Amino acid sequence: MIDLCMKFQIYQCNNCGNIQASTSKKTFKCFNCAKSIKILIKNKSGSNLKILFSTNDSSEAPFMVRELKRLKYEGKFFV
Ligand SMILES: [Zn+2]
Repeated sequence: MIDLCMKFQIYQCNNCGNIQASTSKKTFKCFNCAKSIKILIKNKSGSNLKILFSTNDSSEAPFMVRELKRLKYEGKFFV
C-alpha cells in the first residue's frame, strides 16, 4: 500500500532502478548511483519518483526492500 502520510516510503531510483527506503518526502538520494532526485508529489499516489510501498514500521521497511529486490531479481516484478 502507498500512503504518503506514512513514515517510510520505498522508492525506486529513476536513474538506476535501485529500490530503497527513505523517510524523506522531499529529496531522494540513491545509495547506488548517488543521484539526488527532488520528489514532486502530484497526488495521493502519484509522484515523479516511483513509490513501491509505504509503512510506519521501521522493521517492515527494510524487510519490504529485501522482498521487492528479491522479486525484481527473480523477474516476478514489473520493474
Ligand atoms: Zn540510482
